[in-house]
Amino acid sequence: MSDVIYPKMAVIGCGLIGSSVIRAARAAGVVDEVAVADASPEALKRIHALGFAEHVTGDVAEAVRDADLVVFGVPVLAMGEAARKAAPALKPGATVTDVGSVKASVAEALAAAVPDTVFVVPGHPIAGTEQSGPDAGFAELFQKRWVILTPQGRDDAPYVAAVERLADFWTALGANVERMDEKHHDLVLAVTSHLPHLIAYNIVGTAADLEEVTQAEVMKYSAGGFRDFTRIAASDPTMWRDIFVANKDAVLEILGRFTEDLQALSRAIRWGEADKLYDLFSRTREIRRGVIAAGQESAEPNFGRDRAKG
Ligand code: NAP
Repeated sequence: MSDVIYPKMAVIGCGLIGSSVIRAARAAGVVDEVAVADASPEALKRIHALGFAEHVTGDVAEAVRDADLVVFGVPVLAMGEAARKAAPALKPGATVTDVGSVKASVAEALAAAVPDTVFVVPGHPIAGTEQSGPDAGFAELFQKRWVILTPQGRDDAPYVAAVERLADFWTALGANVERMDEKHHDLVLAVTSHLPHLIAYNIVGTAADLEEVTQAEVMKYSAGGFRDFTRIAASDPTMWRDIFVANKDAVLEILGRFTEDLQALSRAIRWGEADKLYDLFSRTREIRRGVIAAGQESAEPNFGRDRAKG
């Protein structure tokens, strides 16, 4: 157990990630008191029943009052609106962060909404599952996972101290913390997370639309690679709609590159360039080994759950 880092934490949007932050912070002993606001009446009922927060409300301003740390856990396009509701009640000196999967647009929305008296330190835990809602969260979600903080371009001592304190908080929750420029974050995540999800949504959509292959056959023979795509393509539609809208530029840049590489592969298949195919498949196998060596594979201790990232 660590010392208390934030006496009062407010979580706005308490689904998979928000509830995992609370569970992990409670387990680590780094908060004393937790307030939650959520827009979903069903989620509020569940949060009451789960009993991990002292205050549960539908009113964002009420939840953030007196909070030392405010964590926005809503879908990325809802961040601005939630922050505007919180703004009048934020305590001067509080740290405002988020867990959104896109950083440049969210950072801009948060900074525009809240007063200068608080410290805005956007963040993104690279950890998650395909589940949603407060029941899906668990305290170990962030263990040995990366959390990327994208501090604003400020070097005044109080701001630097606020960033340090937030980094200490995530470290206490078991995460490895990295600081990154927000635009760079969005490009990296476009490659490692957003494009793979787009491909999964597309391939599952294509398979579902193929008339010559029946739906029943798709299900029955899904072990041949398709099954893994269906897991990713089962991710929350609201969350992923928001990610692609909010990270348009980076996703289109990477998608352009991907399309060119796919054309090259298509040519190699058409002209029977077996060596080219073999070379690529050998290189990609090495990347897979690198991912496992970096401890970012769910076959590592995964607490019984498949873990993906948003
Ligand atoms: P989730 O389980 O769907 O929970 C989000 C909760 O926020 C829902 O209860 C939702 O209610 C509520 N909400 C939506 N708009 C709100 C608003 N304006 N004010 C208050 N509450 C609001 O979502 P999640 O998977 O935890 O994702 C939350 C954030 O974490 C997203 O920004 C996502 O990009 C990021 N993230 C997700 C993952 C992942 O793997 N899931 C990983 C890393 C980061 P309704 O259901 O009524 O809309």
